[in-house]
Amino acid sequence: MLNFPKETLKFIKKYLRRQQKEVDKNLKEVSEDDPVKSPALAESSEPGTDSYIADTHAKSVVLEKQLKDTKTSIKAALLKIKNGVYGKCEKCGKQIGIGRLLAMPIAQYCVSCSNKISKRK
Ligand SMILES: [Zn+2]
Repeated sequence: MLNFPKETLKFIKKYLRRQQKEVDKNLKEVSEDDPVKSPALAESSEPGTDSYIADTHAKSVVLEKQLKDTKTSIKAALLKIKNGVYGKCEKCGKQIGIGRLLAMPIAQYCVSCSNKISKRK
């Protein structure tokens, strides 16, 4: 178990659970707004509707992917809390700073690894 104040961990867990609900809600909304998945909108045959549908659908797909990625990260973070390995950098194994985790609870890497990874891109 990493050196983590229990209260901090509790706070992060709560935050992640709330985030998770929020993401689920947003995912549902994105899917409802996607004209391809909404028959009422797709059936309308106004001029220009096709490009509107294609455009909105493309945006929905991007947003949905982002939300799904966030959901995966939240799940992974919650699992790490459960397994007592939360806050450990997935690259070098060092503990990620508490300040960083509070700012970004789904962080997978410590600051120095994260910098190295983003530089490589
Ligand atoms: Zn690291």
